[in-house]
Amino acid sequence: MKPRGRFAPSPTGPLHAGSLVAALASWLDARARGGEWWVRIEDVDTPRCVAGADAFILQQLAACGMSSDAPVVWQSKRSALYQAALDRLLTTGQAYPCACSRSDIEAALAAAGRQRERHQAAVYPGTCRQGLHGRPARAWRLRLPEAATVHWHDARLGEQVQDVAAEVGDFVLRRADGLWAYQLAVVVDDADQGITHVVRGADLADNTPRQILLQRALGLPAPAYHHVPLVLGANGEKLSKQNGAAALDLTEPLAALQAAAAVLGLPPAGGSVAEALALWVQAWRRQWQAGAGAAT
Ligand code: GLU
Repeated sequence: MKPRGRFAPSPTGPLHAGSLVAALASWLDARARGGEWWVRIEDVDTPRCVAGADAFILQQLAACGMSSDAPVVWQSKRSALYQAALDRLLTTGQAYPCACSRSDIEAALAAAGRQRERHQAAVYPGTCRQGLHGRPARAWRLRLPEAATVHWHDARLGEQVQDVAAEVGDFVLRRADGLWAYQLAVVVDDADQGITHVVRGADLADNTPRQILLQRALGLPAPAYHHVPLVLGANGEKLSKQNGAAALDLTEPLAALQAAAAVLGLPPAGGSVAEALALWVQAWRRQWQAGAGAAT
């Protein structure tokens, strides 16, 4: 299979220094492998999307010398694929409808004496696993298999393990507001698009075990994973559109790329954008051939 990577931005705002790192790393990885790089706009969470951000992101990428090798797709136009995947899971008993609201889940956890750390997402207690008992369906969840401890390998982080039952529980595939959950959309799309290498920010690493379980449930191949370092803001938190990260300056693409390359442990490069990218492809290939991705 020809190597194929992707960059999958959510159009919630322009690219910033952090998202450029993921874009650059995924592009370099694909090029270093002699593969393709596809862009997918992840706009399933429509309330969070900002009009025009998708077009602007594509312009920013182009200014940085990166453009999709296939027509760009928008997740908001791919509901039929997600529905088909959910239907398959329902048919095989691997998904089920859920009637619980957030407060139902809190109440069930409290009744079972299962406190949770503040700010941690609640582990779904499985209330609707055995049926809705006459309550209306709100959301759809994956029924985790008995063996829900996932071991996986990350090219930078090494061997990883997560007990998805203990840390997450049966997770949502289709939300109570009718929107598709990121986990389902990303798994369906990565497989449908033949993505072999997922290179993205480290904040997404703990989603990977959920995505691997979904791949197994749907009988889909698992891509290789590589989670790159995050750029932290002045407050020490991940740089994000939410904490006011500045949009990349399109007039200075090389400066923005230099900063992203430094985060990835790549050497400074002068010249044009194209020359800098070519140098970093070589450097990335050397790292990758060394087998460790050590500097990233
Ligand atoms: N759309 C996600 C984001 O912008 C990235 C998803 C992924 O790369 O798997 O954070």
